[in-house]
Amino acid sequence: MNERLILVTNDDGIQSDGIRLLASEASRFGRVVVIAPDRNRSAISSALSLHSPIRMNEVGIDRYSSDGTPVDCVNLGFYHTLDRKPDWVLSGINNGWNLGEDVFYSGTVAAAIEGCLLGARSAAFSLTTKGDLKNVRPFLSTFLEQWEKMPLPPQTIWNINFPQQIPLGVRLTGQDNRTYHDVVEQRKDPRGKPYYWIGGESAPTYSRQEGCDADAVLDQWISVTPLKLDLGHPEVIARRDEFKKIFG
Ligand code: MN
Repeated sequence: MNERLILVTNDDGIQSDGIRLLASEASRFGRVVVIAPDRNRSAISSALSLHSPIRMNEVGIDRYSSDGTPVDCVNLGFYHTLDRKPDWVLSGINNGWNLGEDVFYSGTVAAAIEGCLLGARSAAFSLTTKGDLKNVRPFLSTFLEQWEKMPLPPQTIWNINFPQQIPLGVRLTGQDNRTYHDVVEQRKDPRGKPYYWIGGESAPTYSRQEGCDADAVLDQWISVTPLKLDLGHPEVIARRDEFKKIFG
């Protein structure tokens, strides 16, 4: 078998500590190529730069930084830099959890989604901003050793969140719901004009449904969530007869 080819990216930027740890652990399992944004591109979701040029700089052996988004970086890897499709796409380790509906905003998760859409086994990794990366290493290593033994259905990624303290263990979880507070704040600039800041200072609250991601990490477990990219709703689609009666 050929050596595994592993694309590593993130949304916090190539200088972040999280991507260094992820790339160094991943290198035990194959050839790692890092292609990551040159700065923090958090909360940029699956944005793709269709209307501006993208630059990429070689910053080391198999290390590239780009002024593109995380999803741009994955595309650069698949369609330009790598000589074949990577076996794995690993994204993170994000500075901050990606729980519940965070996954719709996260550039970290989006990069894993892109990797999956393009045909690689993909996972996103996140640790609370208050966490310590050294507590991540043991499970990260175990996960990368074992995850090929549990193949996922097509169009599915792993979304992994690490707790603040030393983990008690690992849980397979569902996706929770979260609520953000003080979402849009208005302030005045030095000339007296209003400006707006999205994302309040208070932490989001999670509904903490049993068996879901937030509940697991808040109870000090590692949360491992399989995320399905097909958002179609089977229960509603099954109500075709009812729909037909109303809409014809
Ligand atoms: Mn981030």
